[in-house]
Amino acid sequence: MRCGIFGGSFDPVHNGHVQAASAVGGMRGLKRVYLVPVGQPPHKPDGCEASFPERLAMLQLALREHADAGPPLEAVDLEGRRAGPSYTVDTVEHLRRSHPGVQFELLVGADMLADLPRWERGPDLVRQVCVVAFGRAGTALDQARRAFQGAFEQEVVYAGEAPLADLSSTEVRRCLAAGEPVERLLSPSVEAFIREKGLYGAGPQPAGN
Ligand code: ATP
Repeated sequence: MRCGIFGGSFDPVHNGHVQAASAVGGMRGLKRVYLVPVGQPPHKPDGCEASFPERLAMLQLALREHADAGPPLEAVDLEGRRAGPSYTVDTVEHLRRSHPGVQFELLVGADMLADLPRWERGPDLVRQVCVVAFGRAGTALDQARRAFQGAFEQEVVYAGEAPLADLSSTEVRRCLAAGEPVERLLSPSVEAFIREKGLYGAGPQPAGN
């Protein structure tokens, strides 16, 4: 049985994350995709803007609202329960121990693929998973693949372009702080959660309402 691991800051989770996890999971014929919010991001010294419990809650809301023909998508809180920087290799090892017999595929956008050669214990990580990459606007996938294959001498599976490739959490946070509408970017329950908590400088309603 094969399952996917899709990690990220999810600060906040947006429609691009959910659609990519579902589309790539479906294309690869995965039984389930685990979405793993980072606890303490090793590559972002300032950390995330929202807390781990808030990011996890938003992810769970988005997944509850999501329904399509793709594989089930499940939020995993592992990295919020570990102290210190969150390394994907630790998460993969934990999931492999708790799911014996499952082969894991690591689903990464082109931006993450380009970064992967610098990740903690990268060789240990890529030995334990099949790396599946998808294209994303703003990052040259071919260049990222060459960097990856040069570092690890291992092939990357290419899973096509992300459905909403020009959407990012950075853009979502910018829109929220500027009072611009975000209903096409976020699921309604995630937007409601953000406005209720006043996250990312968002007001109770978009400007103009
Ligand atoms: P930020 O703008 O804060 O850097 P982000 O939108 O890039 O955030 P992350 O949480 O850092 O999102 O990304 C998690 C994973 O989701 C990565 O593999 C990334 O490539 C992928 N991803 C992010 N946005 C999209 C998108 N619009 N379509 C497909 N995949 C995406």
